[in-house]
Amino acid sequence: MALRCIVSVLRFGTPRVAPLSTAPVAREQPVAREQSAAGREATSGCRAAEGARPPLPVVDFGNTQEAYRSRRSWELARSLLVLRLCASPALLAHHEQLLHLTRRLLGQSLFDKLMKMTFYGQFVAGEDQESIRPLIQHNRAFGVGSILDYGVEEDLSPQEAEHKEMESCTSAVEREGSGTSKREKQYQAHRAFGDRRDGVISARTYFYANEAKCDSHMETFLRCIEASGRASDDGFSAIKLTALGRPQFLLQFSDVLTKWRRFFHQMAAEQGKAGLAAMDMKLEVAVLQESVAKMGIASRTEIESWFTAETLGVSGTLDLLDWSSLIDSRTELSKHLVVPNMQTGQLEPLLSQFTEEEERQMTRMLQRMDILAKKATEVGVRLMVDAEQTYFQPAISRLTLEMQRKFNIEKPLIFNTYQCYLKDAYDNITLDVELARREGWCFGAKLVRGAYMAQERARAAEIGYEDPINPTYEATHAMYHRCLSYVLEELKHNAKAKVMVASHNEDTVRFTLRRMEELGLHPADRQVYFGQLLGMCDQISFPLGQAGFPVYKYVPYGPVMEVLPYLSRRALENSGVMKGAWRERQLLWQELKRRLRTGNLFHRPA
Ligand SMILES: Cc1cc2nc3c(=O)[nH]c(=O)nc-3n(C[C@H](O)[C@H](O)[C@H](O)COP(=O)(O)OP(=O)(O)OC[C@H]3O[C@@H](n4cnc5c(N)ncnc54)[C@H](O)[C@@H]3O)c2cc1C
Repeated sequence: MALRCIVSVLRFGTPRVAPLSTAPVAREQPVAREQSAAGREATSGCRAAEGARPPLPVVDFGNTQEAYRSRRSWELARSLLVLRLCASPALLAHHEQLLHLTRRLLGQSLFDKLMKMTFYGQFVAGEDQESIRPLIQHNRAFGVGSILDYGVEEDLSPQEAEHKEMESCTSAVEREGSGTSKREKQYQAHRAFGDRRDGVISARTYFYANEAKCDSHMETFLRCIEASGRASDDGFSAIKLTALGRPQFLLQFSDVLTKWRRFFHQMAAEQGKAGLAAMDMKLEVAVLQESVAKMGIASRTEIESWFTAETLGVSGTLDLLDWSSLIDSRTELSKHLVVPNMQTGQLEPLLSQFTEEEERQMTRMLQRMDILAKKATEVGVRLMVDAEQTYFQPAISRLTLEMQRKFNIEKPLIFNTYQCYLKDAYDNITLDVELARREGWCFGAKLVRGAYMAQERARAAEIGYEDPINPTYEATHAMYHRCLSYVLEELKHNAKAKVMVASHNEDTVRFTLRRMEELGLHPADRQVYFGQLLGMCDQISFPLGQAGFPVYKYVPYGPVMEVLPYLSRRALENSGVMKGAWRERQLLWQELKRRLRTGNLFHRPA
């Protein structure tokens, strides 16, 4: 029942329980898989016919005059001061107490002013949609767009956060004690890690309170999408799925997806295909049927009916995409499915049971996503769905993919996020690219390294499952470039696919430019975007923007007190250990000295 509900709602044949106000999208059904090859030919042909392209514009990240042309000298001095303060370990260690003390000494109004002159002014655009407009327009005039992100977070104590998390990550069945063991450890709530804010440097964290709160988050996202639409005609807006419903569903659905995928890998190992990249694992259907029957998972007749030419679209072999489609489209089948538990060797049901109330809550979550995507379509704004913790991420990614199937028909409206610090990042992205090709929708991705490393590692070690993160920074770096290369190759053949390189890493940006040059991807095609956070790495964003590359800043906004948690994380991300922050300070200082030397201290950006 539960998965049937997930799947039917996933297909966005959503049972309507609340008024849905936004306009319908043009096409509801994904293009059939058989059509995709032809579509791909057409798009590749298009690019081939374009003939010789002009060379890629040269970007000089060391030219401080160009990099800071949009900034007044006092803004440079402020950046320098803020980044210098962030580099102080003593200040960082006690920043929360210091902020509290300063507020008590100065009073709220003076405290707000001080913050606006320093940290808030550096990293946050303003209090609301109206006040952020001048900054958005100013950046745009210098070639830098905006991804609006309402940065408000509830100021919960760790105990409150923990309580909310435990309550919202457990189902009624589990609370009664009869279902706890069915989910793998990774996908169960753990009190010690209930406060998901711990050790996170870049991202905002939501805790589930009730359905009304999720509606209010949705309203906030809607306002943000509208503001993006008003601010420019090619804007982005960011959303987080943990804001839109009970995290319990994300955990349960992630558990199901992971078990199903792991089962495939187990079958692949039995056929001697272990260690291959996911897309290269093609299983012999006859051998697979034999194994599944031997395990007692289903009768031979039942198994034979799973794999028909209609469900697979290929004969003789089956890959992970075909396999995933089994629990996707055959809901009756999924209801009865059991998978082997690798730890106990027992067969266990794939699905957990939901109460009616839980099913309603889950439906509402999917409806909220639907409403946001429709609003984005209506106002021409692209939606970026942020990636979050690994115990939510398989579900987040899958739900995002379902939105892409529905809304990325003519162009990529919905962007999924791929975290390259994950060991399985390459498998994740190659599978999704292949699915988009087969089904004929437009692939849109944001590539990041990942913001939850410390927390993920601590959780895996404490709870006892394999660390999902690459073992070293170098491995993450290599993974990022491998995934990026793969996607850029795809872009070369498919003019409708798009990627955002969301990174502050200069090597990665240079690598992207080099690969674009090699592949003939031109900035004028607007297929490759770059993304950095507001207040960080202007020396990357502005030279790119001024050279004509599509580049965007993540632009958080919100009242001072409500964005304080966000500011804390910015301070941590810019701490002295970060190579990028050190380089940025060096360049800022260089430019200030240059202006002083050349009598340009009162430079007015024009
Ligand atoms: C526009 C934008 C959108 C973003 N959206 C998301 C999002 O949706 N989800 C998300 O999770 N993050 C997101 N991030 C944050 C991002 O994941 C990174 O945390 C952050 O940008 C730093 O990575 P970098 O590529 O800029 O630079 P770098 O400084 O080169 O990389 C630092 C990153 O490398 C990885 N790393 C560091 N040390 C190790 C190690 N020892 N072993 C393995 N890996 C290591 C970590 O991911 C760390 O954050 C976003 C960032 C930007 C700029």
